[in-house]
Amino acid sequence: AKQRGKANYVRYHGGMEQPIFAHAQLGGELRRALDAEEFRLVYQPIIELATGRVIGVESLVRWQHPTRGLVSPAEFIPAAEGTGLIVPLGRFVLREACRQAAAWLAEFGPDVLQKIAPNVSVRQLHDPDFVDDVRRILAEAGLPSDRIVLELTESAVLRGPQVLQTLHRLHDMGIRLALDDFGTGESSLSLLRAFPASIVKLDKSFVDGIELDEEGTPEANARQAVARAVIQMAGALGLDTVAEGIENQVQADRLIGLGYTLGQGYHLARPMPAEDFTRLLAAQRER
Ligand code: C2E
Ligand code: CA
Ligand code: CA
Ligand code: CA
Repeated sequence: AKQRGKANYVRYHGGMEQPIFAHAQLGGELRRALDAEEFRLVYQPIIELATGRVIGVESLVRWQHPTRGLVSPAEFIPAAEGTGLIVPLGRFVLREACRQAAAWLAEFGPDVLQKIAPNVSVRQLHDPDFVDDVRRILAEAGLPSDRIVLELTESAVLRGPQVLQTLHRLHDMGIRLALDDFGTGESSLSLLRAFPASIVKLDKSFVDGIELDEEGTPEANARQAVARAVIQMAGALGLDTVAEGIENQVQADRLIGLGYTLGQGYHLARPMPAEDFTRLLAAQRER
């Protein structure tokens, strides 16, 4: 859903047979929404598969539209990228995620919450002020740089030396980088070596159906082969892995069997408002 061309379609909200926004309106609507502070973050736990313990959290943006209700990022991120509005929107996301993470760390400590992982669009990396913005946002939040993981999609890192230089500057500040949706793009060993990543996130498409391999469809076997190749490659390069989109326990067990230790997915925990995640951390502290 990230290809630029798709932003030109009239979009439909959920299953409703009603156009949500024509592309031409969307830019202006987003600008207004940013000024009106209609964007929110929700938080999806990153879980230690063997124990169920929360070790980190990913932030995901939502648009609380006054009449349309909650709008998914798939509906507006492409347009925000196309219009450049992703830069101020992304700044809001980083500020909010860092502020919230600093509050959780102050309350619970780094043993309960190790890291927060906001998503960053490649368009933000092209902004010459990005590194300085991140540095300032961390300082203002009082969040140590080793508590943040920036999630980037693979295609983002293929866009030339300037982006790579930005990534190295972030890395040198102690910020970790995660390669999101891993396996879907042009993943290769050479890419992983050039990119200063600490984490790869196995894309959901390789987790879907992974539990069915013994029934032996070629597709399921191929998915399992990719899941195995990714963890072997990551291990060889000293990278951590997170498996995305785990929807049942059989998938979780299969991934554990392949050597995955961390995961995310509706089966483990859905994205939730900050207050709910605070309660989850409090419950975990009692354990
Ligand atoms: P992503 O970074 O790959 O995030 C994972 C998406 O999968 C999220 O969708 C999450 O809600 C969903 N998900 C998690 N577990 C499961 C599961 O078990 N089953 C299924 N079917 N889905 C699951 P969401 O929140 O709609 O976000 C979609 C995409 O929008 C994200 O994909 C990311 O690329 C982008 N996005 C979200 N927030 C931001 C943001 O703050 N900035 C930027 N630049 N992009 C964002
Ligand atoms: Ca992500
Ligand atoms: Ca992903
Ligand atoms: Ca994705």
